[in-house]
Amino acid sequence: MRKITIFGSTGSIGENTVDLIERQPDKFDVIALTGGRNVTRLAEQAIALKAEIAVTAFEDCLGPLRDALSGTGIEAAAGEAAIAEAADRPADWFMSAIVGAAGLVPGLRALKHGTILALANKESLVTAGPLLLSEAAKHNATVLPVDSEHSAVFQALVGEDIDSVERIIITASGGAFRDWPIEALEKATLAEASSHPNWDMGQRITIDSASLFNKAMELIETKEFFGVRPSQIEAVVHPESLIHALVGFNDGALMAHLGPPDMRHAIGYALNWPDRGHLPVSRLDLEQIGSLNFRKACETRYPALRIARYVMETGGLAGAVFNAAKEQALDGFISEKIGFLDMARIVEQTIDQIETQDGLRCDMITLDKVQQMDHLARQVAAELTRNTA
Ligand code: NAD
Ligand code: MG
Repeated sequence: MRKITIFGSTGSIGENTVDLIERQPDKFDVIALTGGRNVTRLAEQAIALKAEIAVTAFEDCLGPLRDALSGTGIEAAAGEAAIAEAADRPADWFMSAIVGAAGLVPGLRALKHGTILALANKESLVTAGPLLLSEAAKHNATVLPVDSEHSAVFQALVGEDIDSVERIIITASGGAFRDWPIEALEKATLAEASSHPNWDMGQRITIDSASLFNKAMELIETKEFFGVRPSQIEAVVHPESLIHALVGFNDGALMAHLGPPDMRHAIGYALNWPDRGHLPVSRLDLEQIGSLNFRKACETRYPALRIARYVMETGGLAGAVFNAAKEQALDGFISEKIGFLDMARIVEQTIDQIETQDGLRCDMITLDKVQQMDHLARQVAAELTRNTA
């Protein structure tokens, strides 16, 4: 039995993970589940999966969580520290599916067991990739990518030597505005940016898909996770979202990974790794699909891609600044204080300003440095947001 802990079990990735585990209860033994304010759902999951402990991120939710679990024998806890302590309970497989910078610490702590960390939380790699991976190496732990593109690359690389890789191509749906005239983007509304053509996800990641900030994060993740040079990483718009990524080798071969747009594929791959297990995802009908299309991922339409390239080339703490500024700018757009294209302007200006004043280079990334930079970047981006609004 694989002992499992899920950080962020009540979110979109978390629910998909729970769904897969519930289908094979005899294979998994659930240790800890963590969530946010939705304690009713968190308790329901903990009872269904017979978890040892359920943890909410918020202290004021502890009472309701305790009530929901009373008489079940399942422990309840609350707060950031309690989530990190849940990582101290030994398990064989940890899912990192908290959204945002809060996902970094539990993931880092879980690596100490020297087991598997299935990583959906993009922010961990973008803000602190070298720290996370060196910590994994130190404890002989395995990090498995769960973002669908990186899972695709990982699968295309099984049995291959990374030195024979010439390029990695990450596909992008192009988001809600891929067919809009560029001039119209300035006036794109919150409602328009909140609907995705192919994937059904939360609002924040859907808006990040329209701006391609999500793809920008994924390019940075690719550099960090696979250790390739920025010049080897490309993005291409692929409206069908069926090829998730391609790996080009030095003999000219291009290995593509196709699958339905269903996160249970990448999650299930990590859950069963190193084996492949049956997964309840739809099978692609190639005759019905008929054709696959590709277009240039234009950096004028999607300035986030240009910024990602700068971040990859700069390295150091640029990822931490990029992520924090992006989150802050996204808050500004969601609260309708700034326009759609202002998000990229604010992220770029935040990077510029911090680079000029404090510098972004850093020989060794530590948690402290990442957290300080995160804090500073949020302040700078918040001020730029106020000046724009
Ligand atoms: P979500 O918002 O649906 O769920 C987030 C989870 O984290 C919830 O359980 C929530 O309660 C918890 N949470 C929120 N704030 C928290 C905090 N401060 N402390 C502790 N827990 C907190 O997010 P999601 O869509 O499942 O995405 C999770 C991560 O996976 C993100 O980093 C995202 O970029 C990445 N990801 C998501 C998808 C997808 O299809 N949804 C695909 C690839 C990668
Ligand atoms: Mg992805």
